[in-house]
Amino acid sequence: MTTAHPRRVQVTGDMFHPQLPARAHWAGRQRPHLAESPFANPHPVDGGRKTPCPSCGVRHTLAEALSLYRRHLDQNPDLVRLAATVEADVQFACRCELDQPCHVDELLRRADEVAVIALGDDRDTTFAVQTTPVRTGECSAESDSCGKPGVVAVRVTIGQLRPDEISTLRITMCAEHEGNAPRMYELQVASARELQDPVKNAEFLATVGQAG
Ligand SMILES: [Zn+2]
Ligand SMILES: [Zn+2]
Ligand SMILES: [Zn+2]
Repeated sequence: MTTAHPRRVQVTGDMFHPQLPARAHWAGRQRPHLAESPFANPHPVDGGRKTPCPSCGVRHTLAEALSLYRRHLDQNPDLVRLAATVEADVQFACRCELDQPCHVDELLRRADEVAVIALGDDRDTTFAVQTTPVRTGECSAESDSCGKPGVVAVRVTIGQLRPDEISTLRITMCAEHEGNAPRMYELQVASARELQDPVKNAEFLATVGQAG
């Protein structure tokens, strides 16, 4: 038996009369009265569907669909970051029974591991720090001299509003230096938190040309 993530809720009602709980985001594919969510699983579970998976051309079991969704999240860390920045009182809805496994749990468990740090400035600058598996990039350990193929990365995404701007920096580590990832994550979180201090914040914004 599965325990649903505390922010997962179930849509009830029939196909054409979905009942979406208040303050809930529909996290599935397009349905009557429910718009496609960016968090939808592109690999549908075959529950007597007319057509197989549009991406793979085969019919997926639940276990397969969930495993493919985990890979989808590995390849799209921005989805996890996006989920992490959704207001804390918003719930994520799917059709799945709450005692059944669901892609939403995969998404929310990962989102819980993203540190979101808001600087509270005029442009709502937000830092998001996350650890994510990668298949590209070179290890930057040992002052950039390692250079082996990356397997994990700590990503720091800085988002600002008015105007909307976003930039991501990535610290890549190879299989040998993978053990550095937790410390690197903590370091990035700590330096973002430091910027919540108004004096340091002003200095930081000056360096990115946003002072005054
Ligand atoms: Zn598929
Ligand atoms: Zn579901
Ligand atoms: Zn390395």
